[in-house]
Amino acid sequence: MSKKAFLTVIIFMMLVVPASAVKHPKNVIFLIGDGMGLAQTTAGMVKNREPLTLELFKHIGLVKTHSASHFTTDSGAGGTALATGVKTKNGMIGMNPDSVAVQSILHLSDNKGLATGIVAACALTHATPASYVAHQVNRNRYEAIAADYLNVDIDVVIGGGKKYFSNRTSDERDLIKELKNKKYQVVETMTELEKTRKAKVAGLLFEDHPPAMPERGDFLPRATTKAIQLLATNRKGFFLMVEGSQIDWAGHDNDTERIAAEVIDFDKAVKAALDFAREDGNTLVIVTADHETGAMSLLDGNLGTGELKAAYSSGGHSGILVPVYAYGPGADEFTGFLDNTCFKGKIARLLHLNDK
Ligand code: MG
Ligand code: ZN
Repeated sequence: MSKKAFLTVIIFMMLVVPASAVKHPKNVIFLIGDGMGLAQTTAGMVKNREPLTLELFKHIGLVKTHSASHFTTDSGAGGTALATGVKTKNGMIGMNPDSVAVQSILHLSDNKGLATGIVAACALTHATPASYVAHQVNRNRYEAIAADYLNVDIDVVIGGGKKYFSNRTSDERDLIKELKNKKYQVVETMTELEKTRKAKVAGLLFEDHPPAMPERGDFLPRATTKAIQLLATNRKGFFLMVEGSQIDWAGHDNDTERIAAEVIDFDKAVKAALDFAREDGNTLVIVTADHETGAMSLLDGNLGTGELKAAYSSGGHSGILVPVYAYGPGADEFTGFLDNTCFKGKIARLLHLNDK
């Protein structure tokens, strides 16, 4: 090919292939605000009295959340759809409706040599983190879910639920010992966690669930920062899932103050992810929810004082669309109307996991 023809081809390619379509992230940080719909986000914005980090995102979409069995999903089917790209029945974890195990984006990332991590503001055995790791027909089988953590080569796990690893009633296994045999450093305090430089860490910082805000303090943003720091040492990149678990629980209680406090806390974890991504330039950050909780609406408020008048149509979940926010290479894939099954495939494609 002549030099002129070659240049013509290059210029043609630059015109027809949008720049964003040829950009691929090395790392993905996927943050789930459990139960975080638009009303919850608004409550966080109003109570925070200054803009949330979420407001910096420019690529925004809407996600359909129904499950295979219900218009209104639970966090088992919701988490499974986000993690594996498969809709399942409410109550199930990491399985399709026929009870066949399906692979999560975390498993796939691990198989392809990426470092992987989970940070959750709940017991690690709870439905959302479990969806990335476990395969169970019933989300309440916490000890079985804890044992599933031993079946994946996940690098960093930080959350609660220590008792399901160490003080089991269904069998005699000591999963803490088994984790140590698999070369994990098991830590039980934030101080120990922040000191570690080990590539494989299990941070079991609470017997069961961490407390709600404000008692939980800055556990979630600090654990997120530490997980990113550890995972970023992997040359091939990483996949990290972070869950703001208790927005949902405050929603079930129709507790507006606590919903806002949990959203603000989750937003700090989002900030930790976004700070890293902006510096790194090679990291895609996705923030979404598994469903809305409380069928929450906001009837009145005061932007000056942070007062809010909320109403709730439910003590459970609702089937309303939830937002998705994205930043970084590939972010424009997450705009418009999406289904909660789209994430695994899109992330796998963006990370080139299928060609590795
Ligand atoms: Mg959850
Ligand atoms: Zn819930």
